[in-house]
Amino acid sequence: MKNFNYYQPTEIRFGCGRLSEAGEVAAKLGKRCLLVTVPAFAALEPVFDKVKASLADAGVEVAHFDGVVPNPTTESITAGAKAAKAHKADVVLGLGGGSSMDSAKAIAVEASHKGTCWDYLWFSETQPTEKTLPVIAVTTTSGTGSHVTQVAVVTNTEKRDKSAIYNPIVYPRVSIVDPELMVTVPEHVTASTGFDVFCHAFETYIHPNASPYTDIIAEEAIRLVAKYLPVVVKDGANIEARTAMAWADTLAGLCIANAGVTLPHGMGMAIGGMYPHVMHGEALAVTYPDFMRYTYRSALKQFATVGRIFNSALESESDETAAEKSCEEIDRLLKEIGMWLTLDGLKVPEDELPQLAEQCLVLPDYKSNPKVATPDDVSEILKSSYRR
Ligand code: NAD
Repeated sequence: MKNFNYYQPTEIRFGCGRLSEAGEVAAKLGKRCLLVTVPAFAALEPVFDKVKASLADAGVEVAHFDGVVPNPTTESITAGAKAAKAHKADVVLGLGGGSSMDSAKAIAVEASHKGTCWDYLWFSETQPTEKTLPVIAVTTTSGTGSHVTQVAVVTNTEKRDKSAIYNPIVYPRVSIVDPELMVTVPEHVTASTGFDVFCHAFETYIHPNASPYTDIIAEEAIRLVAKYLPVVVKDGANIEARTAMAWADTLAGLCIANAGVTLPHGMGMAIGGMYPHVMHGEALAVTYPDFMRYTYRSALKQFATVGRIFNSALESESDETAAEKSCEEIDRLLKEIGMWLTLDGLKVPEDELPQLAEQCLVLPDYKSNPKVATPDDVSEILKSSYRR
């Protein structure tokens, strides 16, 4: 068996009703909390109120920064860090989807260090230190897995670049995964975030850093997605399906924290960075059909297993056939959940494809793909994904 490490410092509190523990959790980490969310709207306002009440009951003084934007920007992080400093926050609670949880992590860094969060990206010589404020993550989507990762994704709108802080110091100390919070997620957001769960598990499964530990977790996450994602997209109030997807999201987050992502995420980050109106899950789904066909021959066993998870009739087929057919299974999933997308449909200007192709190879994720893409390969994938 290959040697491997597995690290996960986050305390995970999973299950319906666990939101009520937010105050008790925060009180163990500090006395003054910055709550980090998107601006209130009907679905989430009662959740914000419950958390504030829970914090107040536990004797924690709360200031509410509600300036999170989807695909969080450096400007929004700086505004949040100012709010943290003004409140003298000693703990940051991110409540929402990946955008809110990542904002909480980046605010925790910027509020306690010189410069901005952009100075502390994964490749930077300056890395966040122990001074980083402790983070609590309460996830309301399933999702990015951000509640169990050492990653905070941030977009620099001036540079049209999306990158990340990647450091163990930003692992949330505690994460609360309460599936009741997810029943209000709209259909398309459910589909987009749910497909992200599949991508995390699958890209870990084919990653060189995959281990026997992540293999088990990834296979289970993919099984849950195959069974429950189409169900929850059709019936968002189905708490059994919401719970299964919340668990799949958590497992897939543990996967990326311990192995990593491959070509589609590198390309997806480039698409999100240049076109911030595109949701993260959309930026992944749009290239997946072509990425699958480009890659399957280089990881036959894993693609075959995934094909068989989605379609048990492939059990009797050879690995070659099952792997090839896995591409059709993912096409089918994307169509079923309304995520059969094109770059054209996502309003990506065709004349910017060469610039986008260059950007797709900025993050090192493509180097971990079973078949390492050349600039020409990436251009081809983008061209095929432009119109179908
Ligand atoms: P999001 O946080 O941007 O949320 C999407 C939309 O759903 C928002 O408008 C939000 O207000 C709404 N929403 C959230 N919860 C809701 C609820 N319960 N009811 C109704 N509406 C709700 O989307 P996301 O996909 O969760 O996060 C995307 C961000 O996470 C991107 O920036 C992406 O790059 C990043 N990401 C981070 C990691 C990581 O490990 N840190 C991993 C993958 C992606």
